[in-house]
Amino acid sequence: ALACRGLSHGYGQRAVIRALDLEVAAGEIVCLLGPSGCGKSTTLRLAAGLEDPWSGTIALGGRPVSGQGRSVPPEERRIGFLFQDFALFPHLTVLGNVAFGLRALPRPARRQRAGACLAMVGMADYAEAYPHTLSGGQQQRVALARALAPEPLLMLLDEPFSGLDSRLRRRIREETARVLRARDVAALMVTHDPEEALAMADRIALMEDGRIVQCAAPPLLYHQPATPFAARFLGDVT
Ligand code: ATP
Ligand code: MG
Repeated sequence: ALACRGLSHGYGQRAVIRALDLEVAAGEIVCLLGPSGCGKSTTLRLAAGLEDPWSGTIALGGRPVSGQGRSVPPEERRIGFLFQDFALFPHLTVLGNVAFGLRALPRPARRQRAGACLAMVGMADYAEAYPHTLSGGQQQRVALARALAPEPLLMLLDEPFSGLDSRLRRRIREETARVLRARDVAALMVTHDPEEALAMADRIALMEDGRIVQCAAPPLLYHQPATPFAARFLGDVT
C-alpha cells in the first residue's frame, strides 16, 4: 500500500533522512524502531505528505503522492493518524468523534459506520459519553476507531501508547494490532520501545541516523542482527 523509494530529506542544510526505502503492504504492521533523533517522526511526516522530500518518491495505493512535483492533496490521501497527543474533540461525544471524519456520508450511514467502528474496539457502550469521562486507554481506543472510520489505506502511528501505564499499554497494543490486521490496513508505527516493536510488528525497520539499517521479521532481527548497532539496540529489551 505504501512504497517509499530513495527518500532523502532534511532541515536547513542538514540531511536527516538518507536514501530510505520502505514498503508496507496491506494488512501489515511495520514498526520503525530507533534511537531519539534518528528520523522516525520525519519519515512519518513524509509518508503523511506533511513535508515534501528533497528527493525520492512516495506512492500510496499505487499512486505517486510526492516526488517530481506530483502531489495528491492531503485530504485525498487515505491516511489515518494515531499519535500520542492526538486528542479527541472534548465537546463531541464518543460517537460524534468517530463520526467526525465521515461528514461526506449521509447521516444514518455515518452513525451506522461510526457505531460499527466503536463496537470493533469494544467501546459501543460509551457512544454517548464525553471524552473526559473516559480512561486513557478508553480514549485511545476511541481515537483508533476514529482513525479507522474513514477506511484508510495507511495508518500512521507515532508512539501511540507512550502516555499509558505499562499494563494497559500491553493490552491496548495487542488490541490495536488485531484491529489493524482485521481491517487489512497498512500500518507504519513509530516506537522507540524494542519490546513494543517485537510484540506488534510483522517487520521491524531499524533506523540509525536517517537510514534503515535492517528491515526484517522480529525473530530474524532479534536472533540475527545485521550490525552491532542492531544487536545493541534490541538487546535493550528487558
Ligand atoms: P524521537 O524518538 O526523539 O521522537 P525521531 O526519530 O522521531 O526522534 P525526528 O523527529 O524525525 O526524530 O528528527 C530527526 C532529526 O531532525 C533530529 O535531529 C531533529 O532534531 C531534526 N528535526 C526534526 N524536526 C525538525 C524541524 N522541524 N526543524 C529542524 N530540525 C528538525
Ligand atoms: Mg519522534
